Amino acid sequence: MTDARIDVPAAAHELEGKGAVEILGWASQNLGPKLTFATGFGAEGCVIIDLIAKANLPIDLFTLDTGVLFPETYALWRALETKYGVTIRAVRPEQTIEQQAQAHGPTLWERDPDRCCDLRKVKPLRTALAGFDAWITAIRREQTAERATAKVVEHDKKFGLIKVNPLVAWSHDDVWAHIYANDVPFNELHDRGYPSIGCQPCTSAVALGEDARSGRWRGSSKKECGLHVIQEVNR
Ligand code: SF4
Repeated sequence: MTDARIDVPAAAHELEGKGAVEILGWASQNLGPKLTFATGFGAEGCVIIDLIAKANLPIDLFTLDTGVLFPETYALWRALETKYGVTIRAVRPEQTIEQQAQAHGPTLWERDPDRCCDLRKVKPLRTALAGFDAWITAIRREQTAERATAKVVEHDKKFGLIKVNPLVAWSHDDVWAHIYANDVPFNELHDRGYPSIGCQPCTSAVALGEDARSGRWRGSSKKECGLHVIQEVNR
């Protein structure tokens, strides 16, 4: 349910061109405890955690722990918590990997990745967001044609939430310049050919010249985690 007190178009107009910290501060002040940030630990997500923590903003943080993330991703999760003194809550599916294997057979991701993503990502995300009025995303306008028209603040019709996009005007180079200048922890797999990192069974390295997301569900026609929601969460 969105917050009726917020005039979303007016807020988007007012915040256009402002810095990410100012946008996050506005969101924290106006959306308060009903605001959350769901991170998948992409580079942009790490920047947002850095900004939230340094500004000491009381914003809820969570991640979808599918149970089959890379060891490097789990290590990054702990590194961010330690460096910034924050808690990034784990939102988990109803079933463990073992329970899912008993119910649906082993390695469901190989046979029916859409079903697996629905069980391990989409449903848990919907449940996790049900208690919030607004969420922060890590999207940037230059990422896709669909995102090119994204506003700093907008309605998220899929979830009935207000969506706040503090990095919407940032470039890829802006993100990495911030990471290096501020010593922000990032997933070491990025330096080993993984520009886009999801669950371990469904992510492979990409070769030079390949599309950044070509390592996701390689060999399958699948490109998104259902409803196109997880891409927004992650990267
Ligand atoms: S990315 Fe793969 S392992 Fe992860 S939830 Fe989707 S299908 Fe399952």
